[in-house]
Amino acid sequence: MKIISYELFQVPPRWLFLKIETDEGIVGWGEPIIEGRAETVGTAVRELMEYLVGKDPLRIEDHWHLMYRAGFYRGGPILMSAIAGIDQALWDIKGKYYNAPVYQLLGGACRDSIKVYSWIGGDRPSDVGAAAKEAVEAGFTALKMNGTEELQMIDSYEKIDQAVERIAAVREAVGPYIGIAIDFHGRVHKPMAKILAKELEPYRPMFIEEPVLPENNEALKEIAMATNIPIATGERMFSRWDYKNVLIGGYVDIIQPDLSHAGGITECKKIISMAEAFDVAAAPHCPLGPIALAACLQVDATCYNVFIQEQSLGIHYNQGSDLLDYIVDKSVFKYKDGYVKIPDGPGLGIEMDEERVRELAKVGHHWRNPVWRHKDGSIAEW
Ligand SMILES: [Mg+2]
Repeated sequence: MKIISYELFQVPPRWLFLKIETDEGIVGWGEPIIEGRAETVGTAVRELMEYLVGKDPLRIEDHWHLMYRAGFYRGGPILMSAIAGIDQALWDIKGKYYNAPVYQLLGGACRDSIKVYSWIGGDRPSDVGAAAKEAVEAGFTALKMNGTEELQMIDSYEKIDQAVERIAAVREAVGPYIGIAIDFHGRVHKPMAKILAKELEPYRPMFIEEPVLPENNEALKEIAMATNIPIATGERMFSRWDYKNVLIGGYVDIIQPDLSHAGGITECKKIISMAEAFDVAAAPHCPLGPIALAACLQVDATCYNVFIQEQSLGIHYNQGSDLLDYIVDKSVFKYKDGYVKIPDGPGLGIEMDEERVRELAKVGHHWRNPVWRHKDGSIAEW
C-alpha cells in the first residue's frame, strides 16, 4: 500500500482537517492544528507530506522519526502539530487496513469508557453557578472553568476575591462531589498563583491547570509546596523531551498532552506511559474537533493513568460549528452519566462526513487568539 495524495480542509470554528489517500482506496483523517495558526501548520504539513507521498503508510514509527529527526530542527507547536495530524491519519489508515480500532493495535483496551468533563464559563467567567448546574443536569460529573480574567504579576486581592467567589458559587451549585477543574490558563504568575491556589483549597478543586506558563515550570515546585490541590499542565508541551524535566522534578500530578499538538497518537501514548512511571495521571487536552477527540479516546483506552478526557461539545470557542457537525454517526460521542464509550469502529472509530467537510471548507475560518491588555496598556496573557 502506498500514500498517493492528501488534502487539507480549513473548517469552522477554528480547525484544520487532513485527509490522506492510499492506492488501495483506504483514506485516513487527521487534525493538524494550532489554534490561531491553521495556515502555518498547513504549510508544515505540506512540507512533511513531500517525504510521505509514495511511501507505505503502515510504517508509522519510521515516518514519525523521519518527520521529527530528519529535519534537524525539531519540537515546538507548529512542527509537532503538523506531525500530530499526519500521525493520526496514518493510524486511521492502519486501523482500517487491519479492520481494527487503533486501540487494538496499541495493545488493547484497559477500559471500556472514559469520564469526560464539560467547559463552563468561557474566557471571562460569569454566571458560572447556573452553567455548572446545567452541565450537571446534562449528566456531567466533572467541569472545567477559567479561574480568573487577566492578572498582573502582582495584582490586587480584589481579583483573588472575585475568583474565589466564582468558584464558591460553582461548588455551592453542584454540591460537594462534582469535580471542578480550574484553569489558570497561564494568566497567573508565580506570586499570585501561590495565593490563589491556597485560597481555592476549601472548595476542593479536582485540579488547577497551568498555574504558571510552561516556560516557568520550575516555579511549579514552589506552588506545589503551597497547596495540596493536584497540579495539571502540558497543553503547551509538545514531546517526551518537553515533559521529562517536570516529571523528574516531581512538580506535576496530572499531565495534559494534546493529541493534535504533541506528535499525535505515537508520541502521546509514550508521553503518558512515561508519566505513569512517576505516578502521574493524565487528562489529554482537547478543545478541538472530532478527529482530535477520536484520537484521544483511542489512546485513553490503552493508558492506565488517563482518568478523564477534555472534549469541546458546547465549548465557548465553537461558535457556529460544533464537534458533531462533521461526523456521520454522531452517537459515537454520546455521553452517558458523564462518560463516553471508547469507539470500536476501525481506525479512529469515526466516519467523517466528507461532503459537509468540503462544504464548510469553502466557508473556512480566520480564527485568531484574543489580544488582552492590562489597565496600564501592557499585554496581558490570555
Ligand atoms: Mg488549559
